[in-house]
Amino acid sequence: MFHTIGSLGCPYTCNFCIDSVVPHQPLGLDLIKSDLKFLLGKFKKPNIGWHDPNFGVRFDECMGAIEDVAPPGSFNFFAESSLSILTEPHLKTMQKNGFKAVLPGIESWYGMGDKSRSGKLMGMEKVQKVSDHVNLVLSYIPYIQTNFVVGLDTDEGPDPFELTKLFVDLAPGAFPVVSVLQAFGQAAPLNLEYQSAGRVLPFPFHFLNNYHVMNVMPRNYEWPEFYDRLLDMQSYIFSWRAIRRRLVAARGARPVWLPLLNVIRARCSEGVGRIRHYTKLRELLDTDPQVQQFWAGETTEIPEFLTDWIKKDIGVFWDWLPEGALYHDPNAYLKTSSELRQVEDGVAASG
Ligand code: SF4
Repeated sequence: MFHTIGSLGCPYTCNFCIDSVVPHQPLGLDLIKSDLKFLLGKFKKPNIGWHDPNFGVRFDECMGAIEDVAPPGSFNFFAESSLSILTEPHLKTMQKNGFKAVLPGIESWYGMGDKSRSGKLMGMEKVQKVSDHVNLVLSYIPYIQTNFVVGLDTDEGPDPFELTKLFVDLAPGAFPVVSVLQAFGQAAPLNLEYQSAGRVLPFPFHFLNNYHVMNVMPRNYEWPEFYDRLLDMQSYIFSWRAIRRRLVAARGARPVWLPLLNVIRARCSEGVGRIRHYTKLRELLDTDPQVQQFWAGETTEIPEFLTDWIKKDIGVFWDWLPEGALYHDPNAYLKTSSELRQVEDGVAASG
């Protein structure tokens, strides 16, 4: 698989996203064409993953560049595009040009409606509309990974989790990936709000990856309830029933290994591995005072559960970690912004 990029930034403004504050900047079409030509000269039907935050914002230009380089079907392409880009006319063009997998972000059943073409629809209505759209995508593109985020402030009660389970039933061919909300330093404007409210927990950098832990205290859940619901939903997504239905829905897909990829992903660290981890964490939230205090924001002392985990992951490199490497200031962004504001105010006052 080769990796390339056709643009930076994104025109949408999902406030938890690192790319929401980066203006959309397409890269030169000539550069894209020369890269594709080069690969085609070296390999037969290369697999190419587009790493644009949101592929195809300038859809016609981008597809025109691909079509200028080679006849349809010369490449296998994989791309992360929002559902708003994956309209039926666009899907037809993508199918013709060899797109084999797309990874749209749906994110939440209670927001982000613009990017998923669901407008102001919420909850159940949004599930129905998005499921129909995902099934439409699957009639043109053989593989779709749908991305979700849980723990947003709009989430409350069982619905965000139960609706994702319903989506698994209504769009059985999709592979859902659920991230837990994380605030990465200065990456998104919303982080200032979380830091102002004292909701960001100082998990070591090792765990800031969207799935090991949620480093923002949820607004509407206690931790045990949150992890109970997350665990239940993940178990549903990666149950043998759901895996079997995903396989059946992908019958006849090409390349033939694509449907198998779903089974492998479900049975490895992404599926079963996460369930195992959440089960352990849920147990510790009941039984381990260090975990309870850290997750409640009552101490910054890293629980042994986490340090043991890091030791296991990095092996001999543990001894090489510099003093204090496990600690950072989770509110550094807020402090820097306040200091910057004071400087700006001072300059304005003296001017
Ligand atoms: S559409 Fe995707 S890339 Fe764009 S701001 Fe939203 S989450 Fe980020």
